[in-house]
This record gives sequence, C-alpha cells and structure tokens, in this order.
Amino acid sequence: MTSGSLMFRAPPDSTPVVTETERRLQELGLIGPPYAGEQPGFLVGEHFLRLVTFMGCSPYLQLEPPVDGSDRFCHIRLLGPYPYPRLLRGSNTRPPRCPGCRKRIEGWQEKVTLLEANAGGSTIECPHCSRHSTPLELEWQRNAGVSRFFIQITEVFPGEAVPVPALLEQLKGDGGEWDYFYLTD
Ligand SMILES: [Zn+2]
Repeated sequence: MTSGSLMFRAPPDSTPVVTETERRLQELGLIGPPYAGEQPGFLVGEHFLRLVTFMGCSPYLQLEPPVDGSDRFCHIRLLGPYPYPRLLRGSNTRPPRCPGCRKRIEGWQEKVTLLEANAGGSTIECPHCSRHSTPLELEWQRNAGVSRFFIQITEVFPGEAVPVPALLEQLKGDGGEWDYFYLTD
C-alpha cells in the first residue's frame, strides 16, 4: 500500500530554527502535541482543518494514532534544516522541465544521483539546449521540492488536500516564499 504526503518547503536558502518553527506552528494550530512514533513528529493541531483544505468528504481521514500502533495516520514531521538544499522526490516525481527551453529532462534520476554524490554542489545539463541548471532552477511542478527545511503532513495523497493561502502567508512571515508539493512512496 502506497502512502503520500503533503510537503511544505521553506525558502530554499533559509535555515529555520526548529524550536522557533515549532513554536510558530503551534501558535497557528497547525501542529499539536508531540507524537513519539517511529519517527518523531506532532499530532495535528486544533486549527489543522482550517489551514489545510481536504477535497471531497475524505471519510477516512484519520487524525489520531490508530489502535494498532502504526503511524499510518495524518500527522506532521519537520525535516531539516539540512546543510545544503535537498531535492525531495517520490514515485510521483516526473521529469522536470528545463527553465531555458521548457523541455522535459529525461534521465533526470541518474543526473540527480550524481549531483547528490557531490553534495548538491553542481548542475544538471539539459540534453536539449545544454543549459546548466541546479535542481532548484528546474521546474518540478508539485511533484518534488528543493529546500533545506520541510514540513511533512503524512497520509495525504497528491491533490487530496491543499493549504489555504493564509497558511502560506503565515509561514512566510517576514521571510521568503514557502511553497508546497506532494510525494508518494
Ligand atoms: Zn533546455
């Protein structure tokens, strides 16, 4: 059984302080009490369903830990900050578009793997127009994201839920733009 996540990415060059971010997310009511699962996280907060809009009726939306002890329910994890911007991708990630010629870059997985071996410090060459782009410059639509810090909302499938604009504004605060995307296993 596959699972998916709604991901938020911080402005790619920013390195939010985790404790400060936690405090802000708690004030917003996006996150609630800590959750000690396989990977530590947070239960959803009291305003979660006002900040994230689920499409349709989502009758199976599970917001509490299931009795079987699994962590297959909707909760929140903070990922990072990482020492350099990371590309997070999943089985839903499709070939990105080159910002120069707009064509899709097939074979991107091998190119990205090579980059990561180099700690993210290089570029991918477009096979169509030879433009060199960092992963951040490539266009991933909402199927991957590049940043040093992410918020993950688990058990959300692509397009199943979207953040309200006010949430992205609140995340932005005095800093740069946040954005969101989806990942599936
Ligand atoms: Zn190109």
